[in-house]
Amino acid sequence: TPRIFSGIQPSGNLTLGNYLGALRRFAQKQDEGIETIYCLVDLHAITVWQDPEALKKQTREAAAAFIASGIDPERSILFNQSQVSAHAELGWLLNCVARMGWMNRMTQWKDKAGKNAEKQSLGLFAYPSLMAADILVYHATMVPVGEDQKQHVELTRDIAAKFNHDYGVEFFPAPLPLIEGAATRVMSLRDGSKKMSKSDPSDASRINLTDDADTIAKKFRKAVTDPEPLPESLEGLEGRAEARNLVNIYAALADMTPAEVLGQYGGQGFGTFKPALADLAVSKLEPISTEMSRLMNDPAEIDRILGAGAAKADAIAQPILAQTLEIMGMVRSR
Ligand code: ATP
Ligand code: MG
Repeated sequence: TPRIFSGIQPSGNLTLGNYLGALRRFAQKQDEGIETIYCLVDLHAITVWQDPEALKKQTREAAAAFIASGIDPERSILFNQSQVSAHAELGWLLNCVARMGWMNRMTQWKDKAGKNAEKQSLGLFAYPSLMAADILVYHATMVPVGEDQKQHVELTRDIAAKFNHDYGVEFFPAPLPLIEGAATRVMSLRDGSKKMSKSDPSDASRINLTDDADTIAKKFRKAVTDPEPLPESLEGLEGRAEARNLVNIYAALADMTPAEVLGQYGGQGFGTFKPALADLAVSKLEPISTEMSRLMNDPAEIDRILGAGAAKADAIAQPILAQTLEIMGMVRSR
């Protein structure tokens, strides 16, 4: 039976990239009636430094963003990772299955560590193996993610296959990455070659779900672009990464194809297109940020939702962890 798992790190303000590449699609999958498990992966967030008080606030705010984007905690399981210890436990077991060389080839590791690999936490290096555990501990079959996480889901398949092969079992299913829509990789507003990220030091590089209308308009107005008008067709976006990014964002927000957006705006300059894009973004994001601030007025209720979600997640994960330990030869006597 199909089961969806996906997560977001509570490592800062959620962005338009997180919304279009992940959150909005999480809600769609839930509404299609598939079993959906969504996680605020706080154990992943601490692979880089997080101030403890800020981490709590970011976790509750991310939970509010999920609910405001249409995740219904009665129909989806919504919780934070550290409240279900099976993630960390299976993560360790999979650390002993995954190979160093596999981790070394991960482009996110190379991007995030840069030339400073020696100074990074061991957790940042091992991150993909914990992510494999997040997915496999539920025997999840589908993982909706942005394009940047495709490699990690493929690695999860490799880890599952190696486990099954080494122990001679058909135990972990190979999950499929689901990468769909016009905005699977939203780019930075300051640099068309970099992905929009909540951890980018430049706030101007991203639209935060909590930005007000003026801030959103200003960030799009200042977004780096070339001076040419928009082309009439998709071929005209070749070599114009920044223009392509704004067209893709518009398309995703308006539920149009990029070609349809160019049909409407082809020949027009950014002086016209950027304000139209800002208006569209505000109309879609304002209801979410309003609902987020309403929910944030009652942090105890958010904590209650996360706790109830964790109990449901735990009930699925524990038996799968127990079977994994059994397969690996651990004595189980209590
Ligand atoms: P960080 O910079 O801390 O890694 P992030 O913005 O990359 O933050 P994650 O928590 O790592 O966010 O990713 C959460 C989900 O959002 C993943 O499914 C990821 O693929 C998706 N995602 C992140 N950035 C983008 C983006 N720019 N465009 C589309 N999807 C994205
Ligand atoms: Mg990321």
